[in-house]
Amino acid sequence: MENILSIAIQKSGRLSEKSLEIIRSCGIDFASDSRVLREMASNFPLQFLFVRDDDIPGYVESGVADIGIVGRNEYDESGKELEVVRDLKFASCRLSIAVPHGFAYKDLSSLEGKRIATSYPRILSSVLGRYGVKAEPVVVSGSVEITVQIGVADAIADLVSTGTTLKANGLEEAECIYRSSAVMIGRPDMSDGKRAILTRLLERIDAVMMARKKKYILFNLPAGKLDDAARIIGGMKSPTVTPLMDRDWVSVQSAVDEERFWSVFEDLRALGAEGILVMNIEKMTE
Ligand code: ATP
Ligand code: ZN
Repeated sequence: MENILSIAIQKSGRLSEKSLEIIRSCGIDFASDSRVLREMASNFPLQFLFVRDDDIPGYVESGVADIGIVGRNEYDESGKELEVVRDLKFASCRLSIAVPHGFAYKDLSSLEGKRIATSYPRILSSVLGRYGVKAEPVVVSGSVEITVQIGVADAIADLVSTGTTLKANGLEEAECIYRSSAVMIGRPDMSDGKRAILTRLLERIDAVMMARKKKYILFNLPAGKLDDAARIIGGMKSPTVTPLMDRDWVSVQSAVDEERFWSVFEDLRALGAEGILVMNIEKMTE
């Protein structure tokens, strides 16, 4: 189907909701509650394929889907050579070495000759290989954290986001060896027609992701403090400045990086800004 782009999405799991949410925020409509195997968007040439995340790199490689959203860990573990078209920055996690209490862990060389349980043997062996460490991988497909207690491994390499599961199983995180987040992968040899649809989709995704990193801020300021305010806000060509009835004051508006927001807010307050209004930005371009 030349004029339709198909996207593989995890049917149910940690990636599902956020994957659909980012597509919905691009203004693409679909009947999300049914989650039948295949589904068409109603207002964009996009077809969804809901599958297990482990199968996504393979489906994209074989052309069953043109693009997919999957954890970088699954993609790297698959060993497929596809294009990572975007890092979508959600579902962040790390692959960490965890050891039982009493295991004297210093660095990766402490794993020499040990049995390490993991669902990610390819990533693990590439990291160990880089440091010249020889260990024995024990490949399990789930419940990696119980393998030490049941005696099949000496340590594990598993995905962690908070560390509570590890603790509950008597393990402690020793070292992060790899970081992951959700990525969009695609077939490198897509047709021109499909590539054009992907470009449209990415433009929308970029606008949404950019907007999420910013807040829009609007405030009144003594006119003489404008240069200081511009310095505090930083990074923008020109804040919009509007004169007020009271000629000693101006109204200023600008986008501000979300991560710097509170320090900007406090510095503007200290400078004498009043009536500060802060708004979420829905979409944005550079
Ligand atoms: P499926 O049934 O589709 O095979 P799954 O059980 O293999 O699902 P999930 O547990 O839903 O997969 O995890 C999907 C992805 O979420 C992981 O591959 C990883 O990229 C990411 N992730 C984020 N935090 C964590 C975490 N704490 N543990 C495991 N995966 C995480
Ligand atoms: Zn899976």
